[in-house]
Order: sequence, then structure tokens, then C-alpha cells
Amino acid sequence: MNFENNLAFAQDLDQHDSLGKMRNEYLFPQHNGKPFIYLCGNSLGLQPKVAKQVLNTQLDNWQNLAVEGWFDGNSPWMFYHKELKKLMAPIVGAKDIEVCPMNTLTVNLHLLMVSFYQPKAKKYKIIMEGGAFPSDQYAIESQIRFHGFDPADAIIEVKPREGEYILRTEDILNTIKDNADEIALVLFGGINYFTGQWFDMPAITKAGHDIGAIVGFDLAHAAGNVPLKLHNWDVDFACWCSYKYQNAGPGGISGIFVHEKHFTNEKLHRFAGWWGYKEAQRFKMEKGFVPEVGADGWQVSCTQVMPMALYHASLQLFEKAGFIEALRAKSITLTSYLFYIINQDNKELGEEQFKIITPDKVEDRGAQVSIIAKANGKQIFDALVANNVLGDWREPNVIRLSPVPMYNSFEDVFRTGELLLKISQSL
Ligand SMILES: *Cc1c(COP(=O)(O)O)cnc(C)c1O
Repeated sequence: MNFENNLAFAQDLDQHDSLGKMRNEYLFPQHNGKPFIYLCGNSLGLQPKVAKQVLNTQLDNWQNLAVEGWFDGNSPWMFYHKELKKLMAPIVGAKDIEVCPMNTLTVNLHLLMVSFYQPKAKKYKIIMEGGAFPSDQYAIESQIRFHGFDPADAIIEVKPREGEYILRTEDILNTIKDNADEIALVLFGGINYFTGQWFDMPAITKAGHDIGAIVGFDLAHAAGNVPLKLHNWDVDFACWCSYKYQNAGPGGISGIFVHEKHFTNEKLHRFAGWWGYKEAQRFKMEKGFVPEVGADGWQVSCTQVMPMALYHASLQLFEKAGFIEALRAKSITLTSYLFYIINQDNKELGEEQFKIITPDKVEDRGAQVSIIAKANGKQIFDALVANNVLGDWREPNVIRLSPVPMYNSFEDVFRTGELLLKISQSL
């Protein structure tokens, strides 16, 4: 598409955007008496207007049914997760039985590593992306120590080459091959939180399996953002949070994926709890853990009804939007427009004031564009916020802007570029 750097062009794109109305389903934070241009959905997605109502329904159920809410009412809590599973599965490309909402993300990462990181004397290493989100680094380090190994030796990080920001797929695949005999687990992010790079998940999965390793993904920045085909890609396990691109509220419930090929493997360790017990016999309260078949068998504690209600509210809007494919088409145009606008700013300024570190190939990125300002980065970021554009700042020097197809417009992108230029000219 031939983009133009003017308001009329951006508004015209909005008028032809079939998802443009979805924006009205969300609540925007206000600043200076106006709504923010909200470009921070990669960190905390906006509140769906319907969230209060869906949550209130469950508060009413609690009020009116109390303990009987587990089995009575329109949608008994005992089976509530099944309604969510149906809506979660298309988001990550899984069968219903392979996904389940539970706990929070880092907790699930631990629970899944308990099952899927089973190091042997010689094959004990974990390969991950350099510069992974800190929680993942800490979780992996502590799991390695728990098994009696040394993180300094047992973690292999794939890093960008000198002077580069993003990882080359060939470097990831070669590192896997070069350490074939030692790697027990390949554990990558789907999309890196800092650069916005979407890794080649099918290629990484295949390379991991070729050396006899298990392959898992942390999809915090990928689920609800880009189309995923976890089942078909043969990914072993994955987990994600629901509060970034999936708009389920701060600390929202997490989701897990376990490929169905693992359901019959009785050798997998689990940190079990009563809610993962065979559903039909759970209340017999018998000794000896027998897991429910499917991802549900990884549940530990009873259903977190309120956080689930918030996730449910949000997932219904994904269904209304046509799930990921339609959102993805818009997302590609939105980020491409943001790339164009930022480069126009650079032209206008006569230098590369804003360096984009997110991959420019659309298939290597989702909805996030990370930029490094040549000078005055933090000042520029603060001025954006003061003028109603809310992205986020990541130390040491990155401004992340995420135009989210669910609720951002082309006008948002245009106005952000206009403001970036104005701020830079005034510094
Ligand atoms: C956001 C994020 C987390 C956060 O984990 P919580 O347990 O939900 O606090 C973890 N890992 C990655 C990769 C993230 O992007």
C-alpha cells in the first residue's frame, strides 16, 4: 500500500476498517480531559466495557447461590472453564482439550517445567533467547538449580550478533544443532517483549524435536496478537497471560497449552492438586492422584471464577472480531503505517532520530514497534505521555509503541508520528 503522511489519509483508512467499531467496546483512560492514544496494549490491555457486567453476573451468582454456585445456576463454576477453553483454543491454534485457564503466567511456567524439563546427566541444558523477560530467566534459573545443575552452565542463551538487535533464525537453529546432545528443553518466547521480534516458532519447534528435545513457548506477547498454530506446529507446551493483548485485567488469569500427544504419558511429573484430578471422581476425595485427561489435568487449585469472568468478557470480543485472522490483517497494516510514519519523521528531521529495532519483515513481528531515539529518549517519551500518547518506556533506551488492532486506529498512528516530530523539533 502507498501510505500518505496526512490526517485525511489516516481517517480514510479508518473509515474502510471493518474492525473500526471494535474500539467502541473498550474504555480508554483519560488524561487532560481527553482519552489517551493508548499504545500500551502490549503491557496491559484496555478494559472491555462488558467486563463489569460479566463480573457482576458472577458476583450476583455468589450473592444468590453462594456455595451452590459450583453446581447450580446458568453456568455452574464447576464447568465454567469449559466455556473459556472453547474461546481460547482458536486464539492459540489448539484443540479445546489442549488448553485450560489457570493460575498466573510464571506459576504456570514453573508447573509446566516440572512436567517438561526432566534433565538427564548429559542432556540437561535449556536453550532460550538472550534478553528474555526477567521472570522467565528467574523461573528457568531456579528450575535448573532445583534439579542440582548450575544455571551458568545449563542455560544456553542465543544472542543477537554484534551491532544487531534481533536474533537471526539461522543462529537459533544452529545453536540448537550445535548443542544437540546436551539440550533437554528449548524454551523461547513467542515474541520478545523488548524488540517485538516474533520468532520462527515452527522452525524452532522442528529443530528442537530433531535433536530429541522438548519445545515450549512463553506466549505472553504472542497470544491474542499473532495467529498461532500450536497443535499443528507440534509444540509440546506453552503458556501465556491474558492481561496484555487479551485485555483480561491486571494480574489476569493465565492459559496453558499441552499438546495432546502427551496426555497418555504417565511418566510426566506434575505438582498436583485436587482440581487436576479426574473431574468425574474429584469429589470422591480418594487417595492417589489420577489426572483428568487434557490440559485440565494440570490444574492445581479450584476455579478462579472472578479472574476467569474477566477473561471470558474479553474472549467474547475476540469472537466478535472474528478471532485472530481479521485482527492480524489490520495489525500488519497498522504497524506498517507506523514504520512509514516514523521514517517520514526521520526524513523531515534530516537524520535517523528514531531507530526502529523491531523487525521490518511483517512475518517477524506482531503489533509492537520498538524504537530507540538517537538522543533524549526519556524526555521524548515523557513529552509523548504529557501530550496524551501512552506507550511505554523500557530501560535503558527503548520506547515501545503497540498499535493494537482491536482498539487502535490509523489516526492514532498518524497523530503519534505528528507528535514525535513536533517534540523532536522542539528539543
Ligand atoms: C508479561 C510477561 C510475564 C509476566 O509474568 P506474570 O507471571 O504474569 O507476572 C512473564 N513472561 C513474559 C515473557 C512476559 O512478557
